[in-house]
Amino acid sequence: MSGKFKAIIAGGGFGGLTAATALAQRGWSVTIYERQPEIRAAGAGIYIWENGLRILEALGADVVTKDSFRGLAMEQRGHDDSVLDPGDFPPSVRLITVTRKDLLAGLRRAAEKAGVEIRTGAEVIGAGSEGDLHFLGAHAEKADLAIGADGVWSMVRRSLGLELFHQQTDEGALRTIIPGTPKDLGPDGQDKYIECWSGERRFLITPLNHREIYLALTCQKTDLAGKKSPLDKESWKASFPRWAHLIDRTDQMLAWAPYSIVKVRSWSSGRTAIIGDAAHAQPPNLGQGGGMAMQSALALAVHLEGIADRRDIPDRLARWEEKERPLAEHCQRWSCLYGEVSMLPDATRAKVVSNGMADAWVRNEILRAARSIPTGTEALG
Ligand SMILES: Cc1cc2nc3c(=O)[nH]c(=O)nc-3n(C[C@H](O)[C@H](O)[C@H](O)COP(=O)(O)OP(=O)(O)OC[C@H]3O[C@@H](n4cnc5c(N)ncnc54)[C@H](O)[C@@H]3O)c2cc1C
Repeated sequence: MSGKFKAIIAGGGFGGLTAATALAQRGWSVTIYERQPEIRAAGAGIYIWENGLRILEALGADVVTKDSFRGLAMEQRGHDDSVLDPGDFPPSVRLITVTRKDLLAGLRRAAEKAGVEIRTGAEVIGAGSEGDLHFLGAHAEKADLAIGADGVWSMVRRSLGLELFHQQTDEGALRTIIPGTPKDLGPDGQDKYIECWSGERRFLITPLNHREIYLALTCQKTDLAGKKSPLDKESWKASFPRWAHLIDRTDQMLAWAPYSIVKVRSWSSGRTAIIGDAAHAQPPNLGQGGGMAMQSALALAVHLEGIADRRDIPDRLARWEEKERPLAEHCQRWSCLYGEVSMLPDATRAKVVSNGMADAWVRNEILRAARSIPTGTEALG
């Protein structure tokens, strides 16, 4: 009987809420410890690919509404606004964009409905291998299973000695949401997302609904004008003149920040596991970091189904890692590779993007996670 088991989770982000809901739906008693004063999303918009949508459906999380934007392509454009790759998705692969706030709120509602207890203002400062999480004031909580879903700077990962390396990239992004509608992308920009390249800068345009557009402005850490907060609008308009009307609408921006790449020795130690960015943080170039966090979280709960003795948990965690880790690391590898394209001169990049994306093998590798059937969603067909 799994009903007697208890799980404690550090972090109430996409991974933590998914793991909590999936375990609670399977009879576990679950408590999340979140360090912020409330469950709160950092960031602006987020892409949810087919695999992530299947997970939300399996959890019964109501995130996608009639208002959410569904793009049918990710069009790549060069510095002169010419189309390098039309980026049409196969019909079986959906891609939806929503605000991070809406995704987190939907996951939170699903967790609460499943009976998960959420304690906010609770900072985890360490963990042990016996399902234990440690807090300030020498206080600790113990359970059958502990999970570190505490993001890129995971205290759980570090205190268990699981970290191999945590590298920050030279590339990073400023992000914001502006008022706007898909019509702002022009008559040739309907039903799609548009990513434009110019020098070492990138400008990603993501409609979220019929009121808001998410913009991500990417540049190198050495690009002092590009990184500037508040945004140096003239500098960005010089790089992307076609999109001056959107750049002019920017107001509050999330400051430039680099991406993290995390590699670990193992996804667990004893009865304590790590999931999401804590285990496999990656640059956002494939838009799969959050998807992979939810995917490994749901799979964790599935791998623990039917367990009768908590001494079996370490073996189940090992099987979970063996099954799920290759895909998460595939996304990490391809996401890093994709980022390297921004270092190429414009003319070379135009050829690399056009030819590369026209190649069926490359497209398959990029879409491998989106096309995967996440563990625990097989019944959806
Ligand atoms: C610019 C950018 C764009 C991205 N775009 C996409 C995208 O379009 N699609 C996509 O799928 N992914 C995207 N990602 C990746 C995605 O944001 C992450 O992979 C995802 O947030 C990971 O979820 P998580 O739950 O593992 O970690 P987080 O979302 O970081 O959640 C961790 C939670 O733990 C809490 N916490 C941290 N430390 C502690 C502690 N010590 N004690 C208690 N609580 C703690 C935090 O407050 C937070 O609530 C993007 C990332 C970046 C940087």
